[in-house]
Amino acid sequence: MTPRELPIYELEDALVTALRAQGRVVVQAPTGSGKSTQIPQMLRAHGFLERGEVVVLQPRRLAARMLARRVAEEVGCALGDEVGYQIRLESRVSARTRVRFVTEGILLRQMSFDATLRGVAALVFDEFHERHLYGDISLARALQIQATTRPDLKIVVMSATLDAQGLAEYLRPCEILTSQGRSFPVSIEYLPRTVNFDQESVWEVAARECARVAPQTEGDFLVFMPGAYEIGRTVQALGDRRELNGCVVLPLHGELPPEAQDRAVARTRERKIIVSTNVAETSLTIDGVTIVVDAGLARQAKFDPNRGINTLLVEKISRASADQRAGRAGRTAPGRCVRLWTEREHAQRAAQELPEVRRLDLAEVVLTLKASGIDDVAAFPWLEKPDPKALERAEMLLADLGALGAADERGAPGGRTLPITETGRRMLRFPVHPRYARMLLEADARGCVRPVALMAALTQGRNFLLRGLPRAVDDAREDTLGEEAESDFFLLMRAWRFADQANYGLDACRRLGIHAQGARAVGPLFESFLEIAEKEGLDVSEKRVDGDAVRKCVLAGFSDQVAKRLDSGTLRCELVHGRRGVLARESAIQRAPLLVVAEVSEIGRGDGEVSTLLSLATAIEESWLKELFPADYRDARGVVYDTEMKRVITRRERRFRDLVLEAKVSGDEAPLSEAAALLTKEVLEGRIKIEAWDETVEQWILRVNRMAEWFPELEVNPLTEADRATLIEQLCYGELGARAVKDKSKDEIMRVLRDWLTSEQLAVLDDYLPERLVMANGRKARIEYAKDGPPVMSARIQELYGIEGKFTLGHGRVPVKIQVLAPNHRPIQVTDDLTSFWRDMYPKVKAELSRRYPRHEWR
Ligand code: ADP
Ligand code: MG
Repeated sequence: MTPRELPIYELEDALVTALRAQGRVVVQAPTGSGKSTQIPQMLRAHGFLERGEVVVLQPRRLAARMLARRVAEEVGCALGDEVGYQIRLESRVSARTRVRFVTEGILLRQMSFDATLRGVAALVFDEFHERHLYGDISLARALQIQATTRPDLKIVVMSATLDAQGLAEYLRPCEILTSQGRSFPVSIEYLPRTVNFDQESVWEVAARECARVAPQTEGDFLVFMPGAYEIGRTVQALGDRRELNGCVVLPLHGELPPEAQDRAVARTRERKIIVSTNVAETSLTIDGVTIVVDAGLARQAKFDPNRGINTLLVEKISRASADQRAGRAGRTAPGRCVRLWTEREHAQRAAQELPEVRRLDLAEVVLTLKASGIDDVAAFPWLEKPDPKALERAEMLLADLGALGAADERGAPGGRTLPITETGRRMLRFPVHPRYARMLLEADARGCVRPVALMAALTQGRNFLLRGLPRAVDDAREDTLGEEAESDFFLLMRAWRFADQANYGLDACRRLGIHAQGARAVGPLFESFLEIAEKEGLDVSEKRVDGDAVRKCVLAGFSDQVAKRLDSGTLRCELVHGRRGVLARESAIQRAPLLVVAEVSEIGRGDGEVSTLLSLATAIEESWLKELFPADYRDARGVVYDTEMKRVITRRERRFRDLVLEAKVSGDEAPLSEAAALLTKEVLEGRIKIEAWDETVEQWILRVNRMAEWFPELEVNPLTEADRATLIEQLCYGELGARAVKDKSKDEIMRVLRDWLTSEQLAVLDDYLPERLVMANGRKARIEYAKDGPPVMSARIQELYGIEGKFTLGHGRVPVKIQVLAPNHRPIQVTDDLTSFWRDMYPKVKAELSRRYPRHEWR
């Protein structure tokens, strides 16, 4: 099939028309239709790229690289010339590039540095159904840019499957172009029994199934495995199967050299078996496949709350993903798909993957948004709003790292809407999690980039130092690696060097209790951190390592996890942000009073409680807190309300953020005004109750306020909430303890309150707005004042006999409502006018109540 024959060309005219009309379009067509390779070429052929390039955002690096190579070949240019790609640490572009495939944060970063997207004519969001974080956010940003500075920008959203309706709403006005493509039926088979992959490895099961199906079928195999390691094992296992002699087995994953990747998709003379990651699910199409064998697993990025970063975990894929994979068998002929799980398990799988915006740490994207001047990220037009807690966590971490501006009085709690700082902007240059960006920056300043890059790599991988080992192994470890008292990282670094020098030999590693595979995984991470550092011009040369400098870098990256030992007898610690936890017993850092930990894990215990375990500790000095975070370190004489002693005391305290490093009660008297302010706060927040401050006091305040309203000529100042605080403060003045405040007498309270009014105002208060009203029959009735509405006088029927008409206060100015009560004080009626009450209501009331209360007087 020549590219021109691909099904996507049926949409060509519609695409061109829609893009000319509206500048936004959704293209929905099955995998293999030609979206990724042809649509950029259509844009080029129809003159959309005359004044700029098209940037195609891809979720996967491997796909970006391969698509660029393919399109360059079709166009007939060298890669990096008119067609290129740009992924983390790798870039093949030039000034002539018109079609540029990119991944991850590259486009978003570009938008944050240049909100007009100079030189860009069109943006294509490929594989949008995967709902990668950067796809979601870059699209939202692109829509903003199109709506403001760049109305001429063309936006194409492409997807194999799609909740087209919700997206159409979001993109409105926008055309949706759909192509059914061509496909053949695929029959699906499940395993008859559940296989536990811990007992029988997934590659053995896959090889067995391939061998079983091979003689019954024709065409090529596509085997899905979660990652490079499993792919390698599967290739071996397939090679061991006699039934598969004559087949070529080809791995396909991102760590292979480009030629090997090309080999996997190229046509072969022999029957072939491609063993691939989920890149072959929808990103790449391999012609000739009729059989899919699906392990049902994928490495997925997820937030790891223990380490506070995103990591890759092997997860079961959803039913929707499994269907996509099965579809790869039916592109050129009817196909077969063997799923390595049971039909029953299939029903229990999730219908769809959760979009990344719901499962990833957002720190990096929040920082990028802030760099674009979007300070209120909650108000950002998200396609799908992230959990507000996740946003808050991201902002708080960024503030702790110094990437967002110092807490502003007007800012909402949790650092919301804080702007980016200069440090934050510098951090953005490193395409890694902000924690590591901050560490690398610090390392650059302190001349220890190499060890810090290694440390960053160590925190990303799994801990490879095994625990709970026989005594002999512990001893051997200590003999070889030495003792350590400054940082668990230093021990890990020595262990990694040891394993690396031993070439990850199983025997050597086992002798020291090192997980060889885990240690091996650190190498490439270390390399990639070094590369990133080098690319940004940091000095990565080998130097004598200054342990203090390295420890300060750990502090810079994990300052949100500074911990103070609560005592020397236990391992309990207090952390910043009001958390507590217990230092891991295997930590070598048992004596330091102040630490920073790189791992905080919540561990469910048998009793249903959760305990917080702190590991990967590094001892720090208090002076470093001040040195690195001067704005967050306080050393001051403070006056505080001690909730235990229920007294205002003075103390000298040193704090790092909310963590009190040390506080000493001093004998000094607290200044009376500060004491009064603290006690007032306790009163206003309800923690101290002034017993005599009762309803009559509140009524008095209401009367003053209504007097101000009803008799403006008296020029009474209404008593606001702030005034109330001032009055309470006066009442508390000179006191240090809660008891003295609690026991204030009514007289003391009223003396302070009365001072609010002038003597003239005071003189008329009882006259105009009295507490009680004397009626014509000599009886007194209580009057109740409220914030709004008229005053209400209440009296029992018997007390009202002989009284007629309406009531007013303040010499006729304020009408009063009359609440008539039954003998049991229950209200029966509220009226303005007693005369009409006696005439209209009373006869009925009397008939009813006189039966219930025969002993009362009923006139
Ligand atoms: P879509 O994006 O709709 O899934 P693509 O544009 O990726 O489709 O692919 C269209 C067709 O181009 C595929 O069916 C395949 O035949 C061919 N193709 C794409 N990339 C390559 C490649 N690297 N090598 C060989 N053929 C390729
Ligand atoms: Mg595609």
